[in-house]
Amino acid sequence: MAATSQETSVAVVGAGPVGLYTALLLGRAGIDVTLYESRDSLIDFPRAIMIHRLVLEDFKKTGVYDDVIDRSFVNTEGGVYCKPGGEILISIDGSPDHPIVHCSQDRVQDVLFKHLQQQPTCKIIFNATLQTLEQSSDVAVLNFINDGKPLQVRAKLVVGADGSKSTVRKQLGLPLDGFTWTDNIRVATDIDYDLKDAGLRPAAFVVDPVYYASICRLGKGRGVRFDTGEPWPESRDGEWDEEEAKARVRHRLSRIIGPSAAQAPIIRMAMYRAHQRCVPNFVKGRVALAGDAAHLTNPTGGLGLTSGILDAALLGRVLVRILKNGEPYDKLLADYDSERHGVFTNYVDPTATRNRKRVLGTDPDDLAERESFFARLRAGDVEWLEAQFREEQVMSSTRDMP
Ligand SMILES: Cc1cc2nc3c(=O)[nH]c(=O)nc-3n(C[C@H](O)[C@H](O)[C@H](O)COP(=O)(O)OP(=O)(O)OC[C@H]3O[C@@H](n4cnc5c(N)ncnc54)[C@H](O)[C@@H]3O)c2cc1C
Repeated sequence: MAATSQETSVAVVGAGPVGLYTALLLGRAGIDVTLYESRDSLIDFPRAIMIHRLVLEDFKKTGVYDDVIDRSFVNTEGGVYCKPGGEILISIDGSPDHPIVHCSQDRVQDVLFKHLQQQPTCKIIFNATLQTLEQSSDVAVLNFINDGKPLQVRAKLVVGADGSKSTVRKQLGLPLDGFTWTDNIRVATDIDYDLKDAGLRPAAFVVDPVYYASICRLGKGRGVRFDTGEPWPESRDGEWDEEEAKARVRHRLSRIIGPSAAQAPIIRMAMYRAHQRCVPNFVKGRVALAGDAAHLTNPTGGLGLTSGILDAALLGRVLVRILKNGEPYDKLLADYDSERHGVFTNYVDPTATRNRKRVLGTDPDDLAERESFFARLRAGDVEWLEAQFREEQVMSSTRDMP
């Protein structure tokens, strides 16, 4: 069957939050961009919830902030580290100046999609699955299957935002170096429940080697995310039938929050493995990787979505400079590569690893780190808190950019 062909300045593969945000930045600058998504709609199963303040700062610049806040629960109460059953280990007070913004990933995607549709130069094509990618010194050629038929696309530049199993990454021959956490399989469940019924703050880390969890409100309105894990060997890689999976989650809800939570209706569930992995290079020729296609981290502390959107924030602006100002793509993409690779390896990866061990670690070093972390919080060590705040700024590469 002869392939239909298309041309676009930028082909973005994958309409997750990273692909959507990159395309939106290009569309706002009037650049012609096409987003190719293998599914027939955006993903709506449970994924990230917390929207980091650095992401919100970028959202303010691109005009999506108000719509995101409109769908969020703006948490000024703060959160807790507690034991299963609710005994509080340490409270972290919130404030109106530094709220925690809860907005489930599907809601953020909906907002980005809505804004994208308002850009005349942005197109999105669903049911388009990338098969192969080749590039020469002046063009990239992508072959998709779109609605069962071949589609060939010629693009000046390509963004691989096609998630953890990225075909773009595989086509570039890049390994995803690192490791997979083999102690558990994560189970993310959304339940129709009000945390006030259990006397819990809207965000809680439950610290325990077995009955650990992250619990938080999903956004505006009712609904709670309960993210825990089942030991990997017993989990048979998550291949339980639905009833077994629900029974396991209800048991954990009962032990960790209480019997009323165990009776709450389950809205949706997803199982996943956690990794600490990264590609050696985010760029090859005229193709750049971003988000989960380039790096994976465990979700404790919410740095997966954060680091991915902050990749997109830089990459979108870099692509605008290349295509609008005619700046050299090889130099600018090399800068993007070294900047975002550095952010992941020097900050995101070690911080997320420490966050995870703090909640479910059992080694003496993990226990000592947790105690020292709690001690500093209890003591209200302001200098230390400010240093943490300064350190995390490195995650954003666009603070000084419009
Ligand atoms: C169950 C679960 C829970 C999570 N919880 C958290 C959390 O609490 N906090 C946190 O920060 N992060 C969490 N994460 C991670 C977070 O969801 C990811 O970091 C984020 O989705 C990355 O966005 P992305 O756009 O890079 O990739 P994705 O959101 O995976 O989007 C990739 C898109 O590409 C499409 N695609 C794939 N292959 C192709 C192809 N060949 N052709 C065309 N399109 C393709 C996919 O359909 C998908 O829509 C969780 C992940 C999972 C799976």
